Amino acid sequence: MAESAADFLPANPTLPRLRKAAAGCRGCDLYERGTQTVFGEGAGGAALMLVGGQPGDQEDVQGRPFVGPAGKLLDRALADAGIDRSDTYVTNAVKHFKWVPRGKRRIHSKPSSYEIRACAPWLAAEIAAVSPALVVCLGATAAQALLGTGFRVTKGRGRVLKAEGGYPVLATLHPSAILRGPSDARDRAYAELVADLRCARDASEKLRVEEVGRRGRAGTAG
Ligand code: URA
Ligand code: SF4
Repeated sequence: MAESAADFLPANPTLPRLRKAAAGCRGCDLYERGTQTVFGEGAGGAALMLVGGQPGDQEDVQGRPFVGPAGKLLDRALADAGIDRSDTYVTNAVKHFKWVPRGKRRIHSKPSSYEIRACAPWLAAEIAAVSPALVVCLGATAAQALLGTGFRVTKGRGRVLKAEGGYPVLATLHPSAILRGPSDARDRAYAELVADLRCARDASEKLRVEEVGRRGRAGTAG
């Protein structure tokens, strides 16, 4: 039995090849519970990559990340932060919807650290293929995947940090956490999300300019 997504990674991992291979992933038991693999989507050369936790009910049905209620809130926050979603690449740390039945509804259930680890090769391959200037972790699951289990979003959010993989990461609140939170705290949490996204937009632009400068110098030096 496969122990992680690593057994399913294609050779020459371009985004289209990754997406195709991920559709048949059985790297953990979640493939049995979800309808389909919800792979990332967006601009291939995006400066900004947004990483959520795992697909929800709507995402599972449509096969696309952040298209349900959390996605609507994310769209609004991105617009308020001056970010065009079509310029970004959007994905999740875990690619299958994990849920438990409650009556006729499917209730989201948190992925285990084992499942986050099993799915991590897909996210690592997406980051390598897109090579964004900055990765934004939306919430604790994404932050756990890229910054380690000791990271706390409430303490470490809104700043550019270095991921365990060495690239720049910024963590912020998850849109669902804002939807679920108490109504009096919602406005403040939403404002924090927008402020963090604005900071991410500015940082990604600056980091991309620096990258281009470095590549230019390397080119002329060689
Ligand atoms: N929540 C997430 O973390 N990701 C989605 O794609 C949808 C909701
Ligand atoms: Fe594979 Fe990730 Fe789905 Fe598990 S959750 S089966 S590792 S794609």
